[in-house]
Amino acid sequence: MRLTEGELKLITQLRQDGVLENVNNHRLDPKGVILVACGDCDRFPDIYRHKRRSYRQAGKRHARLHLHCWNGGALRLVPGSPANKPGRSTAVDFQEDVLESERIKRLHTVALYVHRPCAKAANSKMGLLQQMLMLYGAKRELKKKNNKLHVACFVHIDYGTRRNKRQKSYFMSCTKFISWYALRADR
Ligand SMILES: [Zn+2]
Repeated sequence: MRLTEGELKLITQLRQDGVLENVNNHRLDPKGVILVACGDCDRFPDIYRHKRRSYRQAGKRHARLHLHCWNGGALRLVPGSPANKPGRSTAVDFQEDVLESERIKRLHTVALYVHRPCAKAANSKMGLLQQMLMLYGAKRELKKKNNKLHVACFVHIDYGTRRNKRQKSYFMSCTKFISWYALRADR
């Protein structure tokens, strides 16, 4: 699966408009982070390596990354998400799992990821913007359950071709995304 021309244009636009920012130690909690991301074997290693590198660059030798890697990542945390089968308690069960990690590991920061291309999103007929809406929704769900939790949102993009592997994580500003999305005429 590769990005389409339309998706590439959209990502460029989102970057230009400041909705997707280069990651600059956003919410890099020194105590550690609960990481929610799709476990995609071709993309997750880049997400993980990037987080570990960020810790090293911030002078921390040990990155405490507590993983929750269901297919689709943060897409699964939202009730009614197309990534979950209707009528099941998937989203609530997943939320409780994440909140349990907060208690048992005493980690108060959650990094939520969606990624593109993502087979789970494709199987659920979700476009990138819908994934980003779910990401925002996932943050709201967790904050509703525990408003002391710090929740940061990230979008991972695989620009790669078979020869040229290029993957990158971006920070998504929820405030900017929501106002950007509201102004979008073709949504
Ligand atoms: Zn995926």
